[in-house]
Amino acid sequence: MPAPTIRCPICGKEVAFDDPNMPFCSDRCRLLDLGNWAAEKYVISAPARSNELEERDDTPEPPEGRSR
Ligand SMILES: [Zn+2]
Repeated sequence: MPAPTIRCPICGKEVAFDDPNMPFCSDRCRLLDLGNWAAEKYVISAPARSNELEERDDTPEPPEGRSR
């Protein structure tokens, strides 16, 4: 059996457990992941709020027209 490795989440390359860049295969992939993470966080935080507000606004009014 080969030495235990993990997959780089960026490029899928196998990375040794004692690699200093773990879990990334290289410093480049680590920076890329940081960038992705920051971008995702930024993208999520903006629409998530308006989504929550919309959902809250929608909840008190059920689609059933059963008030009569
Ligand atoms: Zn990589």
